[in-house]
Amino acid sequence: MRRRLRRDVRNTREYYEALRAEMEASLGHPNLTESQREDRVAKIRDLPLEMERKIEDLEQKYQVRVTISAGAAVRLLVDVVQVMVDLRYRRAARSLSLIWNPVTRRLDPLRCEQCGQTTTRIHPTGRDSEIRLLCHPCSQKR
Ligand SMILES: [Zn+2]
Repeated sequence: MRRRLRRDVRNTREYYEALRAEMEASLGHPNLTESQREDRVAKIRDLPLEMERKIEDLEQKYQVRVTISAGAAVRLLVDVVQVMVDLRYRRAARSLSLIWNPVTRRLDPLRCEQCGQTTTRIHPTGRDSEIRLLCHPCSQKR
């Protein structure tokens, strides 16, 4: 693609260079009226801008745009082990259910009960009669 673009840009530059040379040579033609001459001079002056526009068009033409969308998802139905854990801290107590995931071969991560982020390291924080499960940053903010 890059190579073809470079080739087309080079050809375009060569084309405009040849056109300019031809038009400049025609200015010396003896039968040319003054208005025709001015007209050609103006056209020669506009050639670089016209060439730049053509090159921009080429660059647009060679741009590759890829749109990717999800086509399929895999859903695995497997037996899991549910581990019930009782947490006690002073007068506070709560139970917690952990899932052992045989696909990943580890406990599924939990969600921080303050910020909602998934975390593999939970910090139980006891306050009054409740225990909250927090991620490390949230547990440091208390
Ligand atoms: Zn958190």
